[in-house]
Parts: sequence; structure tokens; C-alpha cells
Amino acid sequence: MSNPTAPADAAQLKDIVAHAKEYGFVFQSSEIYDGLAAVYDYGPNGVELKNNLKRLWWEAMTQLHDNVVGLDAAIFMDPRTWEASGHVAGFNDPLIDNLDSKKRYRADVLLEEKAAEYEKAGDPARGAALTAEMGRLLTANDLAGVRQLIINEDILCPVSGTGKWTEVRQFNLMFSTQGSAVDSDAPPVYLRPETAQGIFVNFLNVQKSARQKIPFGIAQIGKAFRNEIVARQFIFRMREFEQMEMQFFVRPGTEGAWYDTWKAARRRFHEAVGLSPAKLRFHDHDKLAHYAKAAVDIEYEFPFGFKEIEGIHSRGDFDLTQHQTLSRKKQQYFDADIDPGTGKAYGNYIPFVVETSVGADRLFLATLCEAFAEETITEGEGEAQQTKTRTFLKLHPALAPIKAAIFPLVRKDGMPEKAQQIFDDLRFDFRVTVEEKDAIGKRYTRQDLIGTPFCIVVDGQTLEDDTVTVRDRDTRAQTRMPISALRAYIAEAVSFRRIFEKL
Ligand code: ATP
Repeated sequence: MSNPTAPADAAQLKDIVAHAKEYGFVFQSSEIYDGLAAVYDYGPNGVELKNNLKRLWWEAMTQLHDNVVGLDAAIFMDPRTWEASGHVAGFNDPLIDNLDSKKRYRADVLLEEKAAEYEKAGDPARGAALTAEMGRLLTANDLAGVRQLIINEDILCPVSGTGKWTEVRQFNLMFSTQGSAVDSDAPPVYLRPETAQGIFVNFLNVQKSARQKIPFGIAQIGKAFRNEIVARQFIFRMREFEQMEMQFFVRPGTEGAWYDTWKAARRRFHEAVGLSPAKLRFHDHDKLAHYAKAAVDIEYEFPFGFKEIEGIHSRGDFDLTQHQTLSRKKQQYFDADIDPGTGKAYGNYIPFVVETSVGADRLFLATLCEAFAEETITEGEGEAQQTKTRTFLKLHPALAPIKAAIFPLVRKDGMPEKAQQIFDDLRFDFRVTVEEKDAIGKRYTRQDLIGTPFCIVVDGQTLEDDTVTVRDRDTRAQTRMPISALRAYIAEAVSFRRIFEKL
């Protein structure tokens, strides 16, 4: 899409996109047919990194909290679900077209980018006033007002350079498909636009079967689909993506404290997986969604600016009440705890919900951007000395697709066999690889490019005393250690424990 990004920033994203393709992290979907817009496939290294992120989130939620349990609900749901949730009537983006270029934009994105420009130019108050005004108009569904604001702000189409805009229209983002093979009049089934509703409709099933008492949470990782109008910025905005959501059910009146608790906890998570604190910030919503009482985004500073990676929403009892009304099935919980105010049990109520919702793909992109490192290094000595740029992925070792690569220094003298023995042992615990081809420097480079934290070299001395060198990806320092020490050494570095301890 054609909203502008600064050339320097765009170049950096371009490098990351190219790197992701070249080293097997992310491919454009159906690339041989020129690619399907805003849909991507994860390659051999990408799927490992993504699975590690998902597993980390899953365990941080369900293993570290005895009151958070998991769920894997289906993508298809009864169509009435989406009436209850408000998606059929209200899951829209405001669209505007430029009459000269025929390009289509999201009206709110044009205004947000204008506000960001003010902020960059040192006038954050003007930026804030603009987003507040936009929020007011969108909440009132005043689309003519939104258009007028675009005109008043003198926002021009980046392609045609003109301000000839159409009316603003609402566009529903849900994909639908035919649910019944026999009844062509049957209502369409939707591909879920969020995983949350699968949790809400199972609230009582889970609460009863897992014998949970309020407060408790339900966590789920799964695909979601949105017919995004503006497809751009690589895997940041996709039409098919993955969400990691946790709905936390609480007693009404306690939601404010839980909202603050989860807001802080989720920021700690992002810092613990390696995102720099300076590149993370909270952004309170200017326009609250129809279900929300309070909402904040955790934003990460991508090469194209600060953008949302996670949303934390205080949803009140909106969803469960809606499902209760449409399904005519009670969605109440009986709270036997004693209310100190009345001296009686709290009794029956519909719980309030605090939601944390993070995109696995956006977290993946943030992780990749954070890890992508280039440094100038000097190699060799005397006349052979040369300076070069080293590119490497500084991934947290727990996230790295491959934990260690084992290299026989040369392909003879029993070194390959020794390397194979080490591999055969370590592979029971970790994803490891053996590489024999090319000079050792080239092999280090290949592993640096995919973020492998350790390279183990089998050399002449190994055959004498069963020691190897272990080269650290980030410092390039080599340490000699016994083969018998490798397992504990790698395990310590790659364990989730060190991340969990920070949460
Ligand atoms: P945006 O404002 O960027 O469209 P949103 O506020 O609609 O996002 P939510 O509905 O709160 O997003 O969804 C929760 C999370 O799901 C987001 O923080 C994001 O990480 C992820 N997500 C949402 N839409 C997409 C998408 N099209 N592609 C990739 N991830 C997405």
C-alpha cells in the first residue's frame, strides 16, 4: 500500500524482509504465482522461531499461573456468535478512495499518520488533539466529519499528490464461506476474526470441567482472519494471522486492578523475551471498541515507527451478556465467597473480562527486527587483516531455531565421526546440526545469519582430550570445554527458566 514511510526506515525493513526470505524464515504465500497479498508462509527457521515464541507465551500463561488453563477452539463457529460479538454490524474499517490515483486508504490510518508527523516535528500536543478529534468522530460514526477532518488537515494521496477524496465508507473485515453443502440459503459461516469468541462461548464448559474459581483465565493460540484493506509492512498486517489471547474472568468491581496487573505483566513478558525497554511503550486507545471499558496497546518501535503488538482490554461483561441474550443460555457464575460488605456470598453474576491479545506474527516481526544486527569487525592479522560487516541475529538463545552447530575442523582424521557422536548425543535435548562443508569462517557466518547461539568445533585436540571449542555468536569469543560439559552449558542458555524468572 502506498502510505509513505521514510526512505531510511523502509530500507531497513527491506533488509529484514530480504533476510527473512533468504535464510528460510518467511516466504510470500504462493510466490510462484506472484504471491497472494498479505499472506505469508513460515520457512524452516521461521517455523522454529515462531513455535518457540508460541510455546514461551503458552507456558508463561498456563504453566506459570495455576488459574489459567488452555483451550483450542475451532475456527468455524455458529454465525450467531458474530452477531452477538458485534462483528457482523460493527467490525468495519472506514475507507476512503482518492479519485485521481484510485488508491484506497483507511481514513483512520491517514489521520494517525498525520498525527505522528506532528509528533515527529516536535508538536505532540497537536498530534494528540488530532487523534482525539478522530476518536470522537469515529465513536459518533460521523463519517462525513472524518472526511472533513482529512480535508482540513490537507492530507494528500501519496500516489497522486491530490486531495480529491471520496466519501468515507465502512467496510466489514470478516471473510465468509458457504457452511452447508445442501442448503444454499443457509447463512454463511465466517472465518473467525479473533480467537476470543471461542473462549467466551466455552466459558462455562471450561470453568466447570477445569473446576476453576474466579478469578481465572482461559488461554488460546490460533488463526484469525481479517480482510484487511491496507496490506503492507510485511507480516505486520496479514489477512491470515495467529493470535495468542487470554481472557481473564473476574468479579465485577475488581477489573481495574486486574487490568493494571496484566498490563504490567505483559510488558514484562516482552522485555524478558528480549525486546528493548526503550522500544516498548503503552498507548491508550483514543477510540474505544464497542466492547471495551478501557484499552491500551503495547507498541514496539518497528523500523516503520511505533506500532501495536498487543492489546489489553477491559471488556466488562459485554461478551458473556451478549451470548447469554442470543443463545438464551445463562452465562452466570456462582461466587460462594463472602462479600465483607454484606456478610453474604457474592452469589450469581456474569463475570467481567480482562483480555490480553498479542499477535504471534507481530511478536515474531518485532523479535526479528530487534535481533537483526550488523557490526564492523576486523579479522586476521598483519597483511591478511581485513575489515568487514558482520550480520547476525542476536536472538535470545531460548528462541533461536537451532541451538548449536557442530563443525569438524577438517573432514578427516576422525573429526567428522567425533562431530557426529556429539550430534547424536545432543539431539535428544536440543535442535542441533552438523556442518562439514566450507571453511570454518564461512560456517560461522551461516550460523550467525540464522541466530545459532553456539558453534562447537571439533579439532585435533578434541581427539586427544575430548574437549571442544564453543564459539559465542554475540562476542565471537571461543571457550574450550569438555564434551561432557556441553549439555549443561547449552541447557542453561536456552532454558525458558531464565525468561520465566523475569516475569
Ligand atoms: P490494528 O489496530 O493494528 O488493526 P487491532 O487493534 O485491530 O490491530 P486487535 O483486534 O486488538 O488488533 O488484535 C490483537 C492483536 O492481534 C494485535 O495486537 C496484533 O498483534 C494482532 N493482529 C491484529 N490484526 C492483525 C493482522 N492483520 N495481522 C497480524 N496481526 C494482527
